[in-house]
Amino acid sequence: MTDFDFDNVVSFHIDSGAFRGKIIRLSKTADIILNKHKYPKPIAGALCESMALGVVLSSALKYDGLFTLQTKTNGPISSVVVDVTSQGKMRAFARYNEEQLTNAQTKRKTLGELEPAPHLFCGGYMAFTVDQGTDMNSYQGIVELEGNTLADCAHKYFRQSEQIETAIKIAIVPPEEGSDYGWRACAIMLQRMPENGGKVKTDKEELDHAWIDAVTLLGSMTDKEMVSQKLSPTDVIYRLYHSNELTITDTHRLEFGCRCSKEKVEETLKSFDRADLADMKKDDGNIGVTCQFCSTEYIFTEEELYKD
Ligand SMILES: [Zn+2]
Repeated sequence: MTDFDFDNVVSFHIDSGAFRGKIIRLSKTADIILNKHKYPKPIAGALCESMALGVVLSSALKYDGLFTLQTKTNGPISSVVVDVTSQGKMRAFARYNEEQLTNAQTKRKTLGELEPAPHLFCGGYMAFTVDQGTDMNSYQGIVELEGNTLADCAHKYFRQSEQIETAIKIAIVPPEEGSDYGWRACAIMLQRMPENGGKVKTDKEELDHAWIDAVTLLGSMTDKEMVSQKLSPTDVIYRLYHSNELTITDTHRLEFGCRCSKEKVEETLKSFDRADLADMKKDDGNIGVTCQFCSTEYIFTEEELYKD
């Protein structure tokens, strides 16, 4: 296989455009992000699932700027943030409590194992925002984190807020021993377009049946197939929908990218008062700030921050 088979978004439609879909697959990008943080495996898995959902949701929106998926909960993972720019650069982090994670997993006899993200969120909510700069409309959606998987939570969101029939399936596979691959993830999203996507045949009953068939087919796909190194994303979609007038419409790349810089951190620190900065001093007297997305540490001397 080639690297092109992962870390990309492929757009398609079936049934003459009545149903549109996206398949996203992550490998190297997820690995780079997760390796920057060294999370315990269950946390890395939950963040990987969040990244897959974040990317597939962002890929269905037309925006020029930044998409963010964010959760706020009281469980072992108190929050995750996944950022995806319209250029396909993504970054992510999770905040978690080690003790709560151990207690929750000990109780469930799942210590150290992967669990669907909502098990580690324990309620709370998930928000999606799009920031296109000050002059443009921003988009915000919010949904309670209910359901067994993040895909279930997203289904609830689409039912309540968007009123677009949507089916999402997510697969996450952790690094396997002896394999060249690290984390792999795949998300497939199918949406029934308003006005049937301009489909000539507008027999509602016929389309209702076609939709149910397409969703059932999606449900039949195994996690193994979705993240298979032997299949390209197009192969995966072809397996599902080769007899549904499948058309591939677009492909674009995804990669890790953090937007932090020493200048940006310096600007923020300069807005703090001296007492707050004094609290941030390290043993050597310098002030250190670590980017929560990429773990890069920026060090400043007091003189640097007070020079103006
Ligand atoms: Zn950073």
